[in-house]
Amino acid sequence: MAKSNARVLVIEDEPDMARVLSYNLERHGCKVWTAGTGRAARDRLGSDVPDLVLLDLRLPDVSGLELLEELKSGPSPLAAPVIVVSALGDEETVVAALNSGADDYVTKPFRTRELLARVDRALARRSTTGDAVSGDAAPLRAGSISMDPETRETLAHGSPVPLTRTEFDLLAFFVRRPGRVFTRQQLCTDALGAGGSVQERTIDAHIRTIRRKLGPAGKQLVTVWGIGYRLAETPDAD
Ligand code: CA
Repeated sequence: MAKSNARVLVIEDEPDMARVLSYNLERHGCKVWTAGTGRAARDRLGSDVPDLVLLDLRLPDVSGLELLEELKSGPSPLAAPVIVVSALGDEETVVAALNSGADDYVTKPFRTRELLARVDRALARRSTTGDAVSGDAAPLRAGSISMDPETRETLAHGSPVPLTRTEFDLLAFFVRRPGRVFTRQQLCTDALGAGGSVQERTIDAHIRTIRRKLGPAGKQLVTVWGIGYRLAETPDAD
């Protein structure tokens, strides 16, 4: 079930690892480029738009986290999902990567089939952006938050909020269902379509980031102790 012709940029400085990744992705039907440094990655991204990026965190010229932050923020953030593939597996690093805009995190050594499943999932989610889930592209609004599924713009109190693709999908899920309580597991599967492989702490990390980015409107995302989260219609609803 290869994704035909998905274009993947592999940012990885270890030649053996880059080869293994390229080999498996190509066998999987992807078209692969590799970049061994942050600089080479920036050059490549300046001329090519990939469908997916795999990112090592320990690069010779830049930290992968810094590169990630740079790619995912700014006036024209990288739209392609990023899967971090790193030997670092401590919670702090994982959460930092997710907060910086990574869509998924795989630790080395990885199991090839699992990595490819995650690649497929990231690509599938990408192709359903704009909320094909509900098929509804009308602007959304809850309290001081408004979201446009077509342009994927979010406003809080009228100011633009730069959300990553995952953050947008997650918040839009809440904004469509104000007041309803969802467990972390429901949010993994129903909001992010992440078939159980996303860990629940991933949801917590995304919620923290969304709240921070929303500013005062972030209070609308309410923790329901022992259960999960819900979106209040107004910041003072509680
Ligand atoms: Ca490395």
